Amino acid sequence: MKILVINCGSSSLKFQVIDAVTEELLAKGLCERIGIDGSITYENVKDGTGKETSNPAIPDHNVAISLVIDALMNDRTGVIKSLDEIGAVGHRIVHGGEAFTSSVVINDEVIQAIKDVSDLAPLHNPANLIGVAACQKLMPGTPMVAVFDTAFHQTMPSKAYMYALPLSYYEDYKIRRYGFHGTSHSFVSKKAAEIVGKDYADLKTIVCHLGNGASISAVMNGKCVDTSMGLTPLEGLIMGTRSGDLDPAIVEFIANKENKTASEVLNVLNKKSGVFALSGEFSSDFRDLESAYKKGDKKAQLAVDAFAYRVAKYVGAYTAAMNGVDVIAFTAGIGENSPFVREKVLSYLGYLGIEYDPAANAQRGDVVKISTDSSKVAVYAIATNEELAIARETYALCK
Ligand code: ADP
Repeated sequence: MKILVINCGSSSLKFQVIDAVTEELLAKGLCERIGIDGSITYENVKDGTGKETSNPAIPDHNVAISLVIDALMNDRTGVIKSLDEIGAVGHRIVHGGEAFTSSVVINDEVIQAIKDVSDLAPLHNPANLIGVAACQKLMPGTPMVAVFDTAFHQTMPSKAYMYALPLSYYEDYKIRRYGFHGTSHSFVSKKAAEIVGKDYADLKTIVCHLGNGASISAVMNGKCVDTSMGLTPLEGLIMGTRSGDLDPAIVEFIANKENKTASEVLNVLNKKSGVFALSGEFSSDFRDLESAYKKGDKKAQLAVDAFAYRVAKYVGAYTAAMNGVDVIAFTAGIGENSPFVREKVLSYLGYLGIEYDPAANAQRGDVVKISTDSSKVAVYAIATNEELAIARETYALCK
């Protein structure tokens, strides 16, 4: 069975076609600038025909999906002959609130329940649902599955997910920690168990998902017990342009000083903070920051050092939360590709009995063992694959 995986944003739509049985990636692509002008990039990965980009008008998501289908069925570069070959569509849905603890086959009630929690992710959920509606229109007989970023974290105990606020905020508005990047944390923690040859249900793992958006999770005995992102993805680690943890009183303080509304300040915290801000608005990209760091740029050094320090603090906190840790896994853009940042984080963790091999840390690959055989904690870089995780969930519900 072939699975179409869709990750739909307000003006972009990423897609992949994955063979659910062999788990081979057949094709992938991206529609951008939907509703503005439009561009589509498509690549037949199976036959290696290379990337092709064109700029058709894409006034809405229905047009985007029909272009995706045309590309997938193209005589020269397509990977399917007819739409019937797509057995199911897996949709990434950002927020499932408390309603969804796992992936589900989409029906009218599920769509309503996703709408009901949209106030928790007003930028993402409505866009995700537009992608669902567009697919349903063009592929009416094909089953669709919703895979939630938040679902994996629903196993957290209340002591981890409750904020110390008036209880009515939780009862009336469902304000609590939800966590994000759940498909990645789930995928990587399971893979870590496989790699070390231990039972997933009997392992303490800390997953450091370090990308432009970054989060950490503590996974104990096969369940997420804590994670660093909160009600929204703003909490926790320092990120590309997000501040992560800070004193909430800062919001009012800046609002008063700069005559801004709360939402204007929040915009600064989401889009103009993080390593981008600390580097003096130089860059949010760690490739730029690392090279500036090595040339002695003080602001870039502050940005990277503060980022790594925050990661190390969370690793310490989650080791305490689980009363130990067996595996630490680095993943996502920075976690997979930056030995420099990994080494900075690991330099704080000698007290855990971690020993690592700098030469091993410099290696690249889907799985890189960084720790030595005598290290008390196994440390790995493990490539995440959120699309494959979505395809697996979709296949499990539709085969
Ligand atoms: P997101 O999915 O949140 O947009 P990614 O997981 O794709 O983020 O990570 C993107 C980030 O990964 C980039 O901003 C960049 O900082 C970092 N990155 C990618 N490749 C490298 C590399 N070779 N060295 C250091 N950092 C890298």
